[in-house]
Amino acid sequence: MRIVIVGGGISGLSTAFYVSVSTYIEHLGSALDADLRTGVAVEGVSHEPGRYTLHTDDGSLEADRLVLVTPAYVAADLIRDMDAGTAGRLEQIGYSPISVVGFGYHRLEHPLNGFGLLTTASARKPVLGVLWDSAIFPDRAPQGAKVLRVMIGGQRQPELARQEDDRLIDTAIRGIRQRRFWEPSTAGAPPCR
Ligand SMILES: Cc1cc2nc3c(=O)[nH]c(=O)nc-3n(C[C@H](O)[C@H](O)[C@H](O)COP(=O)(O)OP(=O)(O)OC[C@H]3O[C@@H](n4cnc5c(N)ncnc54)[C@H](O)[C@@H]3O)c2cc1C
Repeated sequence: MRIVIVGGGISGLSTAFYVSVSTYIEHLGSALDADLRTGVAVEGVSHEPGRYTLHTDDGSLEADRLVLVTPAYVAADLIRDMDAGTAGRLEQIGYSPISVVGFGYHRLEHPLNGFGLLTTASARKPVLGVLWDSAIFPDRAPQGAKVLRVMIGGQRQPELARQEDDRLIDTAIRGIRQRRFWEPSTAGAPPCR
């Protein structure tokens, strides 16, 4: 299992997988010699004594035990027929929406030394923060190039996270401009999701 560990994060060390968090899932599957299925959506669960049946978009699966680690609102839907009380409590758990806008630069004069910036509620900025991704994790951009991630929305301004792509990009640019560390440009770069 390949993990990137670099210094310079707020609490000292930042950690990430080289590829994605799927690395961990795949490693766990092979270490446990498990029958691993990924990319399969569970659409419903039924239960009879000693057995759960998972109804998926790729057929049914049977299991003795079931551990649900989906978001709470998904788990609520899946177990509603088995336990309406727990489903009701699960769906009361609130989630704050967040959108992430990424910018990639082949050339950027700013050295981007450090971690990035976080804004405070009292500062009333349109962005939650900007991570200098390629400074934190050097493998996130080709040699000499730089990558930033701008976080928008959260509990403070959930409506901003739900904007269309073009408005999100405008919000991200406004947030960066207000920090005055350089002038962002999206010329020639169509958004991709
Ligand atoms: C932009 C951003 C930055 C973050 N940065 C940090 C950070 O720096 N440090 C930190 O500690 N946390 C961070 N977090 C929070 C962290 O990502 C979450 O707390 C964490 O991922 C929650 O893990 P989880 O396993 O509970 O849920 P998730 O990671 O959301 O996993 C739920 C899984 O359920 C699957 N699923 C959903 N529905 C179904 C279905 N019907 N059938 C089958 N599978 C389904 C999904 O595909 C997903 O894989 C960040 C979150 C965001 C959005």
